[in-house]
Order: sequence, then structure tokens, then C-alpha cells
Amino acid sequence: MMRLETYLVHQQHWTKKQVKQALINHQVKVNHRVVTNPSFPLDGHLHELEIDGKVYPLPSHRYWMLYKPTRVLSATTDCYHKTVIDCLQEKATPGLVPVGRLDKDAEGLVLLTDNGQLTYALSQAKYHVTKTYEVWTKEPLTSYLEDLFQVGIIFNDGFQCQPAQLVIKSDHCAHVTITEGKRHQVKKMFLSVGRKVIRLKRLSIGDLQLDTLLQPGAFRVLTNEEISKLYQVLERVR
Ligand code: URA
Repeated sequence: MMRLETYLVHQQHWTKKQVKQALINHQVKVNHRVVTNPSFPLDGHLHELEIDGKVYPLPSHRYWMLYKPTRVLSATTDCYHKTVIDCLQEKATPGLVPVGRLDKDAEGLVLLTDNGQLTYALSQAKYHVTKTYEVWTKEPLTSYLEDLFQVGIIFNDGFQCQPAQLVIKSDHCAHVTITEGKRHQVKKMFLSVGRKVIRLKRLSIGDLQLDTLLQPGAFRVLTNEEISKLYQVLERVR
């Protein structure tokens, strides 16, 4: 993704004054609609840029969803362990990074992209991106836990978590939706209420859901619809 003005100045060698004038004159169209915002985020997957009838080639980022198996690290390189980048094999391209962390013993959705601005936004608390996990616990779950999570769990070290949504699915399995990403967040939340997490699977990041057809270790490119949903996160704090 690239700001409209940045694209025209750095890739098409326009001056900022020329960009401003073209925007004021309503000469710039994205997907056939006039755009006047110099910060409009452009992505070749989603947009066609047209100025005075001429179509400009746009840079495209890469977006993958991976079902991370356990024992694989959410890192780009590691001397001893297989990483999420290794999972993509020859599809892995320079600049591709996993968005956010998922513990080595956790599994499920990992988003990989070379779109730095989106990676940053999805990891920032101010964007309130929700993440939903399926959790299996050693000790049985009881319904009052749903209220405790709703109020906000307090870690054993005193840290107060944001309210989270807990939906108990069975005696030992629940879905939890959180907006924070502290290290071992979910495991620590359950430990604070006397439950040890024995299996943790990420189901979604914001509106992006793990494709139920993917087996552990499998991956696929994101659809344009999924990419544009991710972009909506950026719109929220404008
Ligand atoms: N919470 C955890 O405890 N671990 C993860 O990997 C993600 C959320």
C-alpha cells in the first residue's frame, strides 16, 4: 500500500504542487471515482488509478493466510526451528513478515504480508483489532467465567486486561475474543482464573477468518475481498 501522493511523487516523479493541483481539479480517479485525498492508500490488488484518462500501474503487495501448525515459530528466520516463512517454501518473497505473534505451541491463522503499514496498524492497540482463539483447558470451564472475562481479567502480576468476550463451547473448550496482544495473553488470562490452556488455535484476526479448508501447514493467497476488509481497519482511526 502506498499513499497516493507518495506514489505520484516517488514513482511517477510528479511535484507535490502538481499532485495538489490535479486533486483540486478532480483529475484523479480511483476505481472510476474522483479522489481528493492525497493520503488515499493505493494497492494494485484493489485499485485502478486513472489521471486524465491514463491508467497508472500500481504496486501490489502480497498477502497469505497460513494455518500455522504447532512447533513452528512466528518468525522470519531461526537457526533451529522451522518458521512460518519456511512453511511458504518458494512462495516466500523478500519483505514478507508474519503479522503479530502466535506462540510456538499455538496453531491457527497467521497472516503474512509485505505491506508494512498494514502490519503496523494491525498490531497497534489503537486500532482495536480483535483476535479470536479456540481454547482447550485442562480444568473444566464454568459459565461465571464469561462474566469475569467481560469485566476484564486481572493477571496474577496485577495487569488489568481489556474486557474480552468468552463463549464456552463445552466443559473444556471455549472461544475467546480479545483486542490486546500481550505476550501469552490468552494463556495468562486463563491461568489467572485457574485454568491451564492445553491447546490454543487462532481462528480470526479482525474480519479475516482462518479458511476451514486449510489443513495445518497449508496456505493460500488472500482474496481481494479479504484484503479490502483488512484495509477497513486503517479507515477506523482516520
Ligand atoms: N495468547 C497466547 O497465550 N498465545 C498466543 O500465541 C496468542 C495469544
